[in-house]
Amino acid sequence: MALAKYFTKDLLAIKQVFSQGSREKFEQLLNSHVVEIAFDDEVSKMEVQSLLDLLVRLTSRLYPQLKFSYLGKEKGSAIISDYIKKAKSINSQIEIVDSASSFSIILGRTPAGVEGKRIYVGSDGWNAKLSTINPVGCGSSMNPFGAGVAACLASSNAFRYVFQEFIGRLEMDDEVVLDVSNLNQGTSNNDFPEIDLGVIHLVGMGAIGNGFLWAFSKMQNCQGVLKVIDDQTVSLSNLQRYVCTDELSIDKVKSAFAKEFLKANSIITEPYNMKWAGYVAKTNEGNIDMVAVAVDSAKDRIGIQSSLPHRIVNAYTENNITGITRHLNFGVTACLVCGYIPEKKMKDYSQEVADNLGIPNLENQVRHYIAYDYPVDDNLLMWISQGNGIGIEDLSKFRGQRFSNFYSDAVCGGVLLSLTGATQNNSKMEAPLAFQSAVAGILLASEVVLLKLGARNEQFPNSSQLYPLLKIKSSTNPYNTQLSRDSSQRCICYDKDFKLVYDKMWNS
Ligand SMILES: [Zn+2]
Repeated sequence: MALAKYFTKDLLAIKQVFSQGSREKFEQLLNSHVVEIAFDDEVSKMEVQSLLDLLVRLTSRLYPQLKFSYLGKEKGSAIISDYIKKAKSINSQIEIVDSASSFSIILGRTPAGVEGKRIYVGSDGWNAKLSTINPVGCGSSMNPFGAGVAACLASSNAFRYVFQEFIGRLEMDDEVVLDVSNLNQGTSNNDFPEIDLGVIHLVGMGAIGNGFLWAFSKMQNCQGVLKVIDDQTVSLSNLQRYVCTDELSIDKVKSAFAKEFLKANSIITEPYNMKWAGYVAKTNEGNIDMVAVAVDSAKDRIGIQSSLPHRIVNAYTENNITGITRHLNFGVTACLVCGYIPEKKMKDYSQEVADNLGIPNLENQVRHYIAYDYPVDDNLLMWISQGNGIGIEDLSKFRGQRFSNFYSDAVCGGVLLSLTGATQNNSKMEAPLAFQSAVAGILLASEVVLLKLGARNEQFPNSSQLYPLLKIKSSTNPYNTQLSRDSSQRCICYDKDFKLVYDKMWNS
């Protein structure tokens, strides 16, 4: 039994939630739990299959021991062996066990006499359902959204249970129906009609982009064109929360990976291995109707808004919040940039990198490595070794790597953190848990569909926040609110020329 190869990144994410814990403690907790996934004959339903698929993708990245149980009358061993294969492709170190479980996630309608703590999970169209008391089952729709969100919430309950000693009072989702179409508790019975989504631009194939991609892969009855814009390749540490990836995805170009992942789908995928600015320049595309934003910097968001797409939906994860914002009328309601007008000048990126490398006084030198993406050399390794009080031999495996790859593995991937012990300050690094990013991406995909279905308009609040680590409650979680425009009026949406171009393009 062993933790995933990319566990240092899991560790960063866990530390973001519980800063007071040590690596040894986190490892000991994970190693002492067996998480069980149980299902029954309902597995022939599409919603159950979607839910199971995502549950396996989420849990196998973190837990070293998984157990699968079949509670139905038919023979389930063939289905189980498929899911075992999937779990092992994602995490080759994982152990599939038969011993008693400590936490069970149960799908279907069979009450289980299992040992340990349990949560029943299911869905019905747009509704995600959870209960600690009775089985909830799944509906017969082709809609993946209730199922996808339910899988993320079930994973959150497992996480809270395993790490409960850091939480104080454990609160599970005892009786929850979350309607993804209105983001509040309640029920609706919307099926998922066959629709043509038109042309959608997805910018960013990172962790949120992966959640989006997963949802699109389960939308079997939709037409449209999905343009995926991203200029990076998949790295080992990405596997911690990129739900569509497995160990064979490493080094693949992210946009091409998206096309490959959707190859059996009726939606046509066009990959663009470039940044947004490059895409706009290359395609010379003026009238961009719909952009789904899954990038992780204010700078990228400003670039996207500046190209004046008609409508923008945006997803983010920050401080354990999963958020969605909607920008449907430039110059009238808050634009994508309104929330990012900095109060103070943001620290330069190179200084941030130098800080994260533990060499804050060497910003000048670091800027050089960033600008030319220089390979890591002895000088850099020596500075980092001295700055962090770690042996140079622990860093020697990075010698010769491109700086950007090194930074991604050593800092964003948590390698440096694990070498220095758990004391290093990583407050600059956003490292969400897999289910936090996945639910952001699934909600982002749902926004695209709901806009098309007419369920999103200017009457709907333009901001929604979900705290997946907390109990889902009708009054506070999710939290819907209306964002106002930048009060300093410095935002680009107050610029007359921008507004003129937008209005001319979209006749508003
Ligand atoms: Zn604005």
